[in-house]
Amino acid sequence: MGKKSIIEVEAAVLGQNDRLAQSNREFFAQWGLLVLNLVSSPGSGKTTLLVETLGRLGQSRPCAVIEGDQETPNDAERIRAAGAPAFQINTGRGCHLDAAMVRRAAQNLPLERGGILFIENVGNLICPADFDLGEQAKVTLLSVTEGDDKPLKYPHMIAASRLMLINKIDLLPYVRFDPRLCAANARKINPRLEVLELSAYTGEGMDAWLEWLGRHPGFA
Ligand code: MG
Ligand code: ZN
Repeated sequence: MGKKSIIEVEAAVLGQNDRLAQSNREFFAQWGLLVLNLVSSPGSGKTTLLVETLGRLGQSRPCAVIEGDQETPNDAERIRAAGAPAFQINTGRGCHLDAAMVRRAAQNLPLERGGILFIENVGNLICPADFDLGEQAKVTLLSVTEGDDKPLKYPHMIAASRLMLINKIDLLPYVRFDPRLCAANARKINPRLEVLELSAYTGEGMDAWLEWLGRHPGFA
């Protein structure tokens, strides 16, 4: 395949995905859901963040979770153990979720009006930036072990995100990572990006994250 036709195929795939994502958005709006697409590199703590978030939200707001991983049902099992319904998508060789996968998963979950649907994307800071899932916002999770220059290296994801969570701040004494420099790097790419620092493990900063969720009621 020549270079031009590869670009044409990519454009067609993304165009098809965008149409399905728009249809998802209308579906989610009917339920008044807050839908967040959680993205990060592998091992940043997405699932731990969700487990701790679900525990703190308790019965106050109904939640459901779509879990994306290449293999294993492990993360959906962790979410169910935390008390929320979860649907696991295994993408095999695929490196991102797309709008069709999310629609199928959402239709297999017990959604509740006014609730939150968390979508944990496959651990990958690259192509999930290009695939709209019909979410309200992308939330990028970055942990302090990854380096404070990562926003500059993965600018497309930062540009597409509304919020960046800097996780594992309990490890700051042991790593060379400056959270303020990290936030400044991210805002060079996306000046409107909101940034919160937390440790899902110790609970530090979780209140501000829950408060952020509370300020976002969902699709009207
Ligand atoms: Mg996970
Ligand atoms: Zn991909």
